[in-house]
Amino acid sequence: AVTMAENNPEQQVVFLGIGFETTAPATAVAVELAKARGLGNFTVYSAHKLMPPALRAILGLPDLNIDGLILPGHVSAVTGRKYFDFISDYAVPAVISGFEACDILYAILKLVKKIHARDFSVENAYPRAVREMGNTKAMAEISKVFRPSDAFWRGLGNIPLSGLGLDTQYSSFDAKVRFGLPRVVEEPELPGCSCAEVLSGRKTPRQCRLFGKTCTPSSPVGPCMVSSEGSCRAHYVFGR
Ligand code: SF4
Repeated sequence: AVTMAENNPEQQVVFLGIGFETTAPATAVAVELAKARGLGNFTVYSAHKLMPPALRAILGLPDLNIDGLILPGHVSAVTGRKYFDFISDYAVPAVISGFEACDILYAILKLVKKIHARDFSVENAYPRAVREMGNTKAMAEISKVFRPSDAFWRGLGNIPLSGLGLDTQYSSFDAKVRFGLPRVVEEPELPGCSCAEVLSGRKTPRQCRLFGKTCTPSSPVGPCMVSSEGSCRAHYVFGR
């Protein structure tokens, strides 16, 4: 996107920054690159999000029904294992997993053992990619370019400081500032979608009345069916 802006000075190039701690460092580097090259036609619309505030929001729900968490290996490769230590405050065991079938089976085995042992520490079952402190350079890029900001999550609502907005020193590269874009307001819940219940373990995907009927991967109703990592999508593809 930076090169595109450089090659097309008459055009405004807006890069949509999405994803968690995994993708935010690359967006941060793009902003710094654009600043170093003095580009006046490159901006970022940041929709990046942070995992800890969302996990805290879910784990703090009074009717939570989650026995354990499989933590994402790609996010953890950037953040490191220690980043998730706060989860043990909620007495829910957690294991960082890779994405191969054997990684997931290994993580589930570890998780079951931890549940039985009532061991609430956060364990790294993906050491070939995840270190204790993660990728400190990538995390430093996030800290340098972004500041936590309130963000809206479908199914969970607004979660304070769970998003990443550009720091004021980079505001000339912030599409929201340059184009005066309004803040995303809360969307109404999708009628019939049970994503909030699925995310908190109060329902399985199959218990949603739309699952596999009006809600499928090719025609998703809620966010849990959109992403290939979503609970409903995974259940639809592998669990039927
Ligand atoms: S099946 Fe679709 S509508 Fe139902 S909870 Fe999942 S994403 Fe929402």
